[in-house]
Amino acid sequence: MSAIDQINNIVIVGGGSAGWMTAAMLAKQLESKVNITLIESDAIGTIGVGEATIPPIKVFNRMLGIDENDFLKHCNGSIKLGISFENWPQQHHQYFHPFGRFAVDFDYMPFAYFWNKHREAGNNKPLQDYASAWHLAKNNKFSLPSPDAKSLFSGFDYAYHFDAGLYANYLKAYSQKRNVTRQEGKITHVDTHPHNGFIASVTLESGQQITGDLFIDCSGISALLIDKTLGVKFIDWSEHLLCNRAIAVQTSHTKAINPYTRSIAKSSGWQWRIPLQTRMGNGTVHCSNFIDEQAAMDELITSVDGELLTEPRVINFNVGRRESFWHKNCVAIGLSAGFLEPLESTSLHLIQRAIMRLISYFPNKQCDEINAKLYNQQTIEEYEHIRNFIILHYKATKRDDSEFWRYCQNMTVPDALQNQIDLFSTHGHLDINAKDLFKQDNWLAVLTGQNILPKHVAPIMAFKQQIDLPRTMNSFYEMMEKTVKNLPSHESYLKKHCPFK
Ligand SMILES: Cc1cc2nc3c(=O)[nH]c(=O)nc-3n(C[C@H](O)[C@H](O)[C@H](O)COP(=O)(O)OP(=O)(O)OC[C@H]3O[C@@H](n4cnc5c(N)ncnc54)[C@H](O)[C@@H]3O)c2cc1C
Repeated sequence: MSAIDQINNIVIVGGGSAGWMTAAMLAKQLESKVNITLIESDAIGTIGVGEATIPPIKVFNRMLGIDENDFLKHCNGSIKLGISFENWPQQHHQYFHPFGRFAVDFDYMPFAYFWNKHREAGNNKPLQDYASAWHLAKNNKFSLPSPDAKSLFSGFDYAYHFDAGLYANYLKAYSQKRNVTRQEGKITHVDTHPHNGFIASVTLESGQQITGDLFIDCSGISALLIDKTLGVKFIDWSEHLLCNRAIAVQTSHTKAINPYTRSIAKSSGWQWRIPLQTRMGNGTVHCSNFIDEQAAMDELITSVDGELLTEPRVINFNVGRRESFWHKNCVAIGLSAGFLEPLESTSLHLIQRAIMRLISYFPNKQCDEINAKLYNQQTIEEYEHIRNFIILHYKATKRDDSEFWRYCQNMTVPDALQNQIDLFSTHGHLDINAKDLFKQDNWLAVLTGQNILPKHVAPIMAFKQQIDLPRTMNSFYEMMEKTVKNLPSHESYLKKHCPFK
């Protein structure tokens, strides 16, 4: 590639989580050899939610060279070991989606095959009882996974809860140290090249014009470049994911800080509880066709604990994705690219994946179509995979106490999801792709938690008769119960290693 072809100027439009995550990683990976300008508007602001994450965020921060405790200290961070789903399978039933694995696979077989055989023989312990993350979570304990591969506590994983605004600020400081230029101002005009339709420049309200070779659209729901300028369509997924409105409010803590997110199903959606070190993030996600705004607000306010610290804030959204994410010399990252409701906390992860994919397929000035095509294909697969996993939570409910849940239970779901449900319901087998975000243990947690259980034990288990299953299963459980007693509480862990500054 000649020096003339090389990208010299990158313009990032938007300074929410997507914008600053992109700026930080590009500055790091491009070793500050490319000019990066990030434009954000204080007058417009950011969406201001996005506080729960999944384990790969640790890899992202590590790649940036960020120290975990320093980050938690500055971002009001706490630990997340998984999600407690309450009232989802039916009213008054709970299950836990833990990070990391269930017990341990043995005799070259998935642990779940043994669990299912044991269940068929009359054992009634749910699968979560064999997850070390759940033992930690239900006791409000935390310590880092054991480095001893033989320990049952080496197999759990964790992520974080944090203040998304503080995280953006943290990455802003990181990026500015690496020569990213921050430009405040509202973009009022975008120019494209007449001969190829590439974006040429953006113009601010002040009249200042900023040119670039590659434009990253991190402008949030407004999708200023990918939609308003280039006209790339949005594909709507509301047929399967009905929720389209959220109301968010922060409250004070009244109890111990849980090392997990709570998702509590309500009449026409669900509510989140995300504990940070100094406050609780609460919100409702619901479908406006089934509950009006005031009723949803009342349902939220009457069910939160603690004192309200902020005014409740209403956020309307559409669930779906862009037809393509990379178009000409523009790559959409964050809410401009698409949105999947926050049930499994996957949005920041999709941002992380988009950034890493952009770096893998980093273009020259021509932005070859074949490159963009591959990027788009892989991103579509990723969105569809996550979409299907989220739909499963709604489809698999046995709730029939509201019109919303009756619709969910009876809706037709995408073929890939229906196949997965049918496959698992037969012998407990699962179709997992190496690239998938949600692996075997994730599917197991939600399927069994929602009471979708295999009708039969996996036939291979007929050849595994020599294992004393009651003794083995009991020893896993007892070992977890015993170990967790000696571990520190989540709060004492935070106080010791990363108290909020
Ligand atoms: C209710 C809800 C709950 C969520 N919870 C989670 C969660 O728990 N976990 C998770 O991973 N994700 C969650 N998300 C998603 C998460 O909030 C977003 O994916 C993330 O914050 C990224 O947002 P963004 O940076 O794309 O957009 P924004 O934060 O909206 O940022 C857009 C930026 O573009 C700028 N901008 C826009 N137009 C212009 C213009 N004309 N000129 C200049 N600047 C402009 C704005 O000023 C802003 O800086 C949630 C989302 C919602 C709606």
